[in-house]
Amino acid sequence: MRGSTASDPVDCMKYVVVTGGVLSGLGKGVTASSIGVLLKSAGLRVTSVKIDPYLNVDAGTMSPFEHGEVFVLDDGGEVDLDLGNYERFLDIALTRDNNITTGKVYDNVIQKERKGDYLGKTVQVIPHITNEIQDWIERVAHTPSDGNGKEPDACVIELGGTVGDIESAPFVEALRQFQFRVGSENICFVHVSLVPVMGPVGEQKTKPTQHTVKELRGLGIIPDILVCRSANPLEDETRVKLAAFCHVSENAVVSAHDVSNIYRVPMMLEDQGVSEVLSDGLGFKLPGKRPLLEEWKAMADRVDGVEKEVRIAMVGKYTGLSDSYLSVIKALQHSSYAVNHKLEIDWIESANLDDEYAESDPEAHAEAWALLKGVDGILVPGGFGRRGIEGKIKAAEYARTNNIPYLGVCLGLQVATIEFCRNVLGMEGANSTEFDEYTPHPAVVFMPEISKTHMGGTMRLGTKPTPFLVEDCKIRRLYHGAEHVDERHRHRYEVNPELIEQIEGAGLKYVGKDETGQRCEIMELDDHPYFVGTQYHPEFKSRPNRPSPPFLGLLMAATGQEI
Ligand code: GLN
Repeated sequence: MRGSTASDPVDCMKYVVVTGGVLSGLGKGVTASSIGVLLKSAGLRVTSVKIDPYLNVDAGTMSPFEHGEVFVLDDGGEVDLDLGNYERFLDIALTRDNNITTGKVYDNVIQKERKGDYLGKTVQVIPHITNEIQDWIERVAHTPSDGNGKEPDACVIELGGTVGDIESAPFVEALRQFQFRVGSENICFVHVSLVPVMGPVGEQKTKPTQHTVKELRGLGIIPDILVCRSANPLEDETRVKLAAFCHVSENAVVSAHDVSNIYRVPMMLEDQGVSEVLSDGLGFKLPGKRPLLEEWKAMADRVDGVEKEVRIAMVGKYTGLSDSYLSVIKALQHSSYAVNHKLEIDWIESANLDDEYAESDPEAHAEAWALLKGVDGILVPGGFGRRGIEGKIKAAEYARTNNIPYLGVCLGLQVATIEFCRNVLGMEGANSTEFDEYTPHPAVVFMPEISKTHMGGTMRLGTKPTPFLVEDCKIRRLYHGAEHVDERHRHRYEVNPELIEQIEGAGLKYVGKDETGQRCEIMELDDHPYFVGTQYHPEFKSRPNRPSPPFLGLLMAATGQEI
């Protein structure tokens, strides 16, 4: 345990555990991050742990179709997108260990068993798996995450899934035991549930919440705070009923109703006294002034106050599922606030821009092109696999030849390079070997160090420095003239080093390369309002009050501002 000093707001680590009931997708992550903001506003250093009860070791091998975006951390951890929420809300940088999965826990226990660490014992879910989970949580909770190298004071733990799922049972049991390990005065349980509305008068129904709390209590966890998702604020009558039936004090039944923007959530909890409940339960003092809350309020007001619109096309292949591009959307939003515009995203399924579609589905093709032609800026986000590639190449060509601001992220840089090779350098059939193994002009190639047999955790991952190679260019100005940038990567392919000279000679410059000077990282086109690509993913480090520079550039150019 930490040594306590007079200036510490708490004498030992405080834990807030957030579980969910009734159904998934209730916004547990946002609730948990908002609770983190309240703790931070009280002067505590806050970190977080996300538990995902699936068997995958990490999210890296999961399809964005199924599980949303794969978030990438500084250390190269490929994790659940909720860690992105925590990083953005709490302005921290987490490690791969902050995302616990069943796969990771079993992997560790099995490795220990093979080494002989449990020699003589029968290795079982209880106590071996449940102990491993508790040890893991304790270890990670103490890992510094806010860049100051100091141990956190509090850790918000979010348990993914819904209480009662078979796969989350060992975690619920571990958390039940954990309250005795750390002492009940150091842990607070928050349960997020749903209060649906039924009938002609719109009665708020409490039964689903009653059932899920009963289930949780049956597993040995008594919630201290009940957060109820509902369209409208909880009525007094509903609150009283929930308190009585769920055995939670009335002031700890909290309404999480729809609000105009996500930045209102911490204040919504604050206004209902959640900070007081936390400070009473966990034994820390609430300072009289909490400037962080003012900041959040101002941010929420600013977001609601913008009027003028800016339209950005997102040309991708998971366009029906915005979770697949969550951090990209966030980075666009952060930048739109900075330029005082309301962001409108036009989702364009890249395959529909492809010439092939002109014949097979002319309506979808025409619609996609009409949308693309109406936007102020174009973004081609990261992606894998061949489907939709030709449409993305078309979008890059349209942006380049019509002076439309363009930002290509990872794959977006690669398609812009392919397009340039084909249409400016006349390399017919130029492509990435990812999409056409036998292309006559491999503009983008497999990186030599990447594994060809193992897909999990073997890409070029995590934060790597990218030095700038030119004195002045738009993207370097956006990074305030920095010598180098530290951004996060996730890719297997790169611009073919053998073609760089030729491409640059025709005007598409790679203004930032990796430290060896070989690998292209940042691309910028001469004589264009904004035609930029990054091999890395700048979206992962964007913050509401500190938008990611390449995204800010796109929004500035799209709203006619000089960079
Ligand atoms: N598929 C490309 C690669 O592996 C781009 C990856 C990405 O956009 N994250 O290099």
